[in-house]
Amino acid sequence: MKKIAVFLVSSLLAASAFAGELEDSVKADYDEHLGALWDHFHRNPELSTVEVETAKRMATELRTAGFDVTEGVGGTGVVAMMENGNGPLVMMRADMDGLPVEEASGLPNASTATQMSPLSGKVEHVMHACGHDVHITSLVGTARQMAARKDEWSGTLMLIAQPAEEAIGGAAMMREDGIWERFGQPDYALALHVSSENVAGQVNVIEGSPYAGVDTVDIIIHGVGAHGASPHRGKDPIVLGSQIVLALQTLVSRELAPRSAGVVTVGAFHSGTKHNIISDRAHLQLTVRNTSLETRDLLLNGIKRIAENMGRAAGLPEDKLPEVIVSENPSPPMINTASLARRLKIAWSEDMGESRVVSIPTKTMVAEDFPSFVMDPDIPTVYWAVGGTPQKDFDREMAGGEQVPSHHSPLFKISPEPSVRTGVESTVVALLELMGD
Ligand SMILES: [Zn+2]
Ligand SMILES: [Zn+2]
Repeated sequence: MKKIAVFLVSSLLAASAFAGELEDSVKADYDEHLGALWDHFHRNPELSTVEVETAKRMATELRTAGFDVTEGVGGTGVVAMMENGNGPLVMMRADMDGLPVEEASGLPNASTATQMSPLSGKVEHVMHACGHDVHITSLVGTARQMAARKDEWSGTLMLIAQPAEEAIGGAAMMREDGIWERFGQPDYALALHVSSENVAGQVNVIEGSPYAGVDTVDIIIHGVGAHGASPHRGKDPIVLGSQIVLALQTLVSRELAPRSAGVVTVGAFHSGTKHNIISDRAHLQLTVRNTSLETRDLLLNGIKRIAENMGRAAGLPEDKLPEVIVSENPSPPMINTASLARRLKIAWSEDMGESRVVSIPTKTMVAEDFPSFVMDPDIPTVYWAVGGTPQKDFDREMAGGEQVPSHHSPLFKISPEPSVRTGVESTVVALLELMGD
């Protein structure tokens, strides 16, 4: 008994000594380098697939930290490797892209940047409105910590700066460019997102699905055009489309098990040209979201069944039934490896303090393209959140004051220092847990 107690006390002391030392070291690096680096990235955001200057700066930073860096992987992607003896290959990813949003955060370093968007073909305002500037700054902090701690771990560390996450495709682009074949397939894959919904300084990790899977679906409704005064001569695609929109609402409310998560949103409904013309076509555009492949099948099959059979009910012939087109590039749900999530949660609780580690389930069905890295083949993975909003801002909102701005809003504003520091601390603790001696 005595021996165990002594061991426990000494290991706790060691853990807290490590925790304090890591916290101080990351704080010192924030003051000396990372704070200014975040400021630079925040002032200079770039749009998806054209993160050219951001990628260059990331390559320079990671090379300076002592990593072997390759640029231009899957477009503007950067891969930084550090080999340090025998052990697992562990990958940590940070996404680099900003959004076409005009910043109105009121921050002193608010972005005034504009850039030609390859997606819209127009010059757009650009803002780091999702906090990816925190991710890349944290990745540099992690690189500097891990390089300074080479005697505390062994294995191979792969740090990735990924393009075009917001466009859902950058991860797949890096896979298509042979990232695993060229640099090795990781034994573990890690990623984090700063979250305005979590308290600054906290780590939020769950065992289930932190991000939803998404499919983009188009429904083309073929009608028969007619004069608006002669509805009996046509087949009105607006009426049929409206019936389909309402019938789709029953998929989540009546067919999906109530404890499973799913979303069917009809985001666009286009039809018609004029008051008195019955159109011959309607086009519905949907986003369909899931947290499991079973739900995905249920929703996609249900949409097809409802659209076609509503067409039959409207009296359309078999060759004129509504067409349901599912986009070829679905994003699967992000599902954490439960045992690994538990293991890292324990490590974070021990090394960062239990009060800083929470498991708050995700409320929204926002998607991520990280699953492209970790599915097919399956790689054990954990994706966690780092809080970015000071408690006082939540208190203000609770008291009926100004709301905490959400991601992608022009008002988006997280606290950089606790976000970046917690990003670095949590990543270093996770890497040392997986690669530590
Ligand atoms: Zn985003
Ligand atoms: Zn994001």
